[in-house]
Amino acid sequence: MPWHISAFYPMYKMTDVSPTPASTLKRAYEIGKEEGLKYVYVGNIDDAKHESTYCPSCGTTVIERRGTIGQYVVNHLAEDGICPECGYRLEGVWS
Ligand SMILES: [Zn+2]
Repeated sequence: MPWHISAFYPMYKMTDVSPTPASTLKRAYEIGKEEGLKYVYVGNIDDAKHESTYCPSCGTTVIERRGTIGQYVVNHLAEDGICPECGYRLEGVWS
């Protein structure tokens, strides 16, 4: 099960609330990983390390995500959901 953790930004009628600190997003990311989730992501923040997908078996980057809105880059490095380093079959729809 993927878990996507998005940063809050003050807009519209909630401009009196502070944005989510990057440290809070990273802490939530680490908790998700420590609890055994394979696919954890942060969002609404420029943080390639915590936005990319890694092979749960060997840790190789299989989908690289980086950048911000308008300059976002996604590189699929696992052909058909197979890790190029160890052959692990990644969960998800790949075709
Ligand atoms: Zn692998």
